[in-house]
Amino acid sequence: MKVQAGTAPKACIVASGLHAKHDLGGHPENKRRINSIWDALRVGELLSQVKVLEAQPLRSDELTLVHDPLYVRWLQELAQTAPQMIGGDTYIAKDTYEAAAWSAGCAVGGLEAIMDGEVRRAFALCRPPGHHAFRDRAMGFCFFNNVAIAARVAQVRFSLAKVAIIDWDVHHGNGTQAIFYDDPSVLFVSLHQHPAYPGTGLAHETGAGAGQGFTLNIPLPSGSTDSDYLANMLEIVLPKLDAFRPELILVSAGQDALAEDPLAGMELTPQVYAVMTRELMRVADCHAEGRMLMCLEGGYHLAQQAQAVRAIIEALAE
Ligand SMILES: [Zn+2]
Repeated sequence: MKVQAGTAPKACIVASGLHAKHDLGGHPENKRRINSIWDALRVGELLSQVKVLEAQPLRSDELTLVHDPLYVRWLQELAQTAPQMIGGDTYIAKDTYEAAAWSAGCAVGGLEAIMDGEVRRAFALCRPPGHHAFRDRAMGFCFFNNVAIAARVAQVRFSLAKVAIIDWDVHHGNGTQAIFYDDPSVLFVSLHQHPAYPGTGLAHETGAGAGQGFTLNIPLPSGSTDSDYLANMLEIVLPKLDAFRPELILVSAGQDALAEDPLAGMELTPQVYAVMTRELMRVADCHAEGRMLMCLEGGYHLAQQAQAVRAIIEALAE
């Protein structure tokens, strides 16, 4: 892929060095996840073909578009008595609140770059991840639901009516699903391993009330491959998106369905993530004036995750 001289980059990466303040040696969700991605991105000329933006601080009222103000304050205060564990798997460090707020700031920064017309597509290097975070609860290494906050900011600040979220993290995006379960303005689609953590995301979970039919779960057995994912994308996900006609595509981009990932049992290759990205880019071009924002979620095999993210960003830059 080559960007012609004089052509503005079509994509940006948004990041914040503050993620490193949320870290616990020996825990799979650690700062080396982002550092290894940067190592992979620095090879060759890729970084000259995209914009690289520093995240901006999140507006104080934008966290509470999704999260309960009492929960936000609880997390802020909990960080003062760190380190500690919540729920057995999620650690809180001294600066976790700050890192989590800036992680959401990466997502919103990517959205702003798209909505301001600076780029068509963005990849937000969000860490800590977000898709297991509920309105009022941290869970599964997640504190603030980055992709959900981006969806709400798109609707409230940028007046987009319909937003689609595609979650291909190997774990079901239970927090995101819960936040939008009764909301027909946000289509939530999740492909995930089942049975697996967190245990939700069965096919019969399709939304409630006015949101009935706007949640689509595709549970897949352990051992699923590139061709299984592509078949589901082409036969189920893309037609659903075409029918919904989103004005913005958000992706909860967790690359833990990779074959080497230590926390799951899928068999994907890094390259298939680029193929799925291009399919979604086509939908974004068709319905959303190209607008597509991807937010990093899980992915715990450092080298393979980094390869997959690089492949995704190469596709976004085309
Ligand atoms: Zn995951």
